[in-house]
Amino acid sequence: MTPPKCTICKTQNTAFPVQVLLPSYNLKLCQKHFLEWMEKRVAETIAKYHMFTKNDKILVAVSGGKDSLGLWFLLTQLGYEADGLYIDLGIPEYSAESKSYASKLAERIGRTLHIVDMATELAPIPEMKQWSRKPACSLCGTIKRYYMNRIAREKGYTVLATGHNLDDEVAVLWNNVMHWNMDYLSKQYPVLPAEGPFLKKVKPLCRISEKESALYTIFHKIPYIKPECPYSTHASSLENKRILQQLEEEKPGTKITFYTGFLKNLAPLLHKNEKTDSSLAFCKICGEPTTTEICSICQLKQKMGKL
Ligand code: SF4
Ligand code: ZN
Ligand code: ZN
Repeated sequence: MTPPKCTICKTQNTAFPVQVLLPSYNLKLCQKHFLEWMEKRVAETIAKYHMFTKNDKILVAVSGGKDSLGLWFLLTQLGYEADGLYIDLGIPEYSAESKSYASKLAERIGRTLHIVDMATELAPIPEMKQWSRKPACSLCGTIKRYYMNRIAREKGYTVLATGHNLDDEVAVLWNNVMHWNMDYLSKQYPVLPAEGPFLKKVKPLCRISEKESALYTIFHKIPYIKPECPYSTHASSLENKRILQQLEEEKPGTKITFYTGFLKNLAPLLHKNEKTDSSLAFCKICGEPTTTEICSICQLKQKMGKL
């Protein structure tokens, strides 16, 4: 049997071996053409949703995982001014390993990596957990939102980019539709515009699947953290991903059709009805945006006797 030929090689009179099958797009690609295809697709996503331009200063939130590291590398390949932000949560072993991958990539691409160390800022997550009734992930989410926005604004960045991929977005969309979480649905979009003290937030990998993202990072030989965070309990999100993967295998293209259909048909209607949040105030202690008199980070600091 003759081996399959790369869809793009066929048109360019080259013949590299096929390494990636993308049934959703009816493509069989060699490594070189897969990497080019992915960079082009991300560049198109950035332009389509008006995420940023070459004049912007981009801060990429890097966790040490495949998506955020791959995204950071890819943006620099496309010629964007992109630095990284790593929040060291102080999770034993996990944080040290993931931080080392973020630092290695920063060195390789010659860009700045800002590091916020929770052990000196507040406390490592395991210690913080003893002072809060919130589950670790909810605490972690609050910390990330607070520091990402604050650092990016203080250091003069204009856009914050995160590595959410298509599978993440589709799993959230599926869950929001299943429960008709209209409030969440109205906020689910690849771009959240800047609003007052909040920076613009973008998800350039929203049309890239988890598999495509992993291959990009692996083909570029970027080491990344493989074990899950020990606090990870995304049971329902994993279950949603499993169901969606089954649908995708039966009918390739289901995920991208579902997601882009939402962005095209429902999201604009939801945005039309959206009201601006008038309850926003500024924390009396740190001055960061909050909906209460004192923001949750300062409240935690007070509880822990750090203020
Ligand atoms: Fe944070 Fe939870 Fe993710 Fe761990 S699994 S990094 S605690 S959000
Ligand atoms: Zn090829
Ligand atoms: Zn505060």
